[in-house]
Amino acid sequence: MTHPPPAGRRTLVLGGGFGGITVAVELRQLVGEEHEILVLDHRQHFLMGLRKLWALVGAGGLEAGRQPRPALERHGIRFLRREVTAIDPATRRVTTDQETFEADFLVVALGAEPRADLVPGLAEHAYNVWDTDDVPALADALDRFDGGRIAIVIAGAPYPCPPAPYECGMLLDDHLRERGLRDRTTLTVTTLQPMLLPNAGRAGSTWLGEQLTARGIAFRVGRAVERVEPGRIVYAETSLEADLVIGVPPHRPPAVVTASGLTAGGPWVAVDPATLRTTHPGVFAIGDVTQIKLANGLPLPKAGLIAELEGRQVAAGIAAAVRGTASPPPFDGRAFCFIEMGKTRATLVEGDFFATPEPVVALQDVSARHAEEKRRFETERLARWFGAGEGDR
Ligand SMILES: Cc1cc2nc3c(=O)[nH]c(=O)nc-3n(C[C@H](O)[C@H](O)[C@H](O)COP(=O)(O)OP(=O)(O)OC[C@H]3O[C@@H](n4cnc5c(N)ncnc54)[C@H](O)[C@@H]3O)c2cc1C
Repeated sequence: MTHPPPAGRRTLVLGGGFGGITVAVELRQLVGEEHEILVLDHRQHFLMGLRKLWALVGAGGLEAGRQPRPALERHGIRFLRREVTAIDPATRRVTTDQETFEADFLVVALGAEPRADLVPGLAEHAYNVWDTDDVPALADALDRFDGGRIAIVIAGAPYPCPPAPYECGMLLDDHLRERGLRDRTTLTVTTLQPMLLPNAGRAGSTWLGEQLTARGIAFRVGRAVERVEPGRIVYAETSLEADLVIGVPPHRPPAVVTASGLTAGGPWVAVDPATLRTTHPGVFAIGDVTQIKLANGLPLPKAGLIAELEGRQVAAGIAAAVRGTASPPPFDGRAFCFIEMGKTRATLVEGDFFATPEPVVALQDVSARHAEEKRRFETERLARWFGAGEGDR
């Protein structure tokens, strides 16, 4: 059955993650109730990526961060749990496992999918902390861990949250020290990229390398994984023995996005960086499913905060079109993130990513204050979006 827009207009948001939720919540404040805002996601609950790392090291459970998407209805936003099975950007028609929707404005915010299957042995012999479903099994394996060799292996790029594998290493370092296992454990991070954090440039990558070295965490760059075998990671010219392998798999857009033609033969959805518009009128794409090339040729990092900022931009753009007012100022590519440097300290990274001839990225001090700010980053959003914690006040 096909559902045309109601008498007002409809914005249809595909994906209720960082980007999709932001579009819906921000747009609701800018347009009247006659404009329907409908969010579709195949998962009932929202959970931030940072929770996955906390869950591994006893810094907070997954449940505490899980929020039901139907709670968005408190804002006057419709949510339906649906599998999006086809997108026709030319007509803005979207087919789900149950019905077809038409929309005046369509926002594609379906994220990036971890694809461990693209590297032989990665799914079988490594834990994939990028996939929520794998987190409990890795947490159990770490509970049973009694010393040995742990390897964190970045097997594909770009991947969501570039610093997260290193945060994982530093959180594990603290956790193993607390458990008296650090002396009996080696920690190694390997990446296929030429430096640890290409978006932070050579200086930022060198700084991060020094931080890892100070904690006794080894690292290797330029190591593309060919396959993972039981107890061994095989690279082009060398290999690494490990008792426990944590994999960061290659990522791809969901198949439904590729099939829609929105990637136009490229790996990700291309958008106008200023407006997040695709080449199809009324169709926007934001967050991890997109790729924006920066002045130095690198892609804009895939991060929750960036998806959120892009979501704000799109909400303002749709509201201006609905109200017939001037377009908002362009998206400026300025963003920040907190890198956890262990369980109690973090640094703040601020980036002016659209700067030329290359992005300008600045790192602040490592402090307990930034670690607290990272905790607040989650609680403030869960409260704003879902009303989380209201009953506790
Ligand atoms: C371990 C880890 C730590 C991280 N830490 C941070 C951090 O500290 N700060 C930060 O800013 N970012 C962090 N990130 C990155 C952040 O989670 C992502 O960049 C962000 O979620 C991207 O937002 P998005 O809206 O583009 O996609 P997502 O949030 O992934 O949302 C996409 C949504 O689409 C839905 N979907 C996909 N396909 C379909 C379909 N066919 N039908 C219906 N629904 C579908 C999914 O269920 C999902 O809810 C972290 C990520 C990881 C893995």
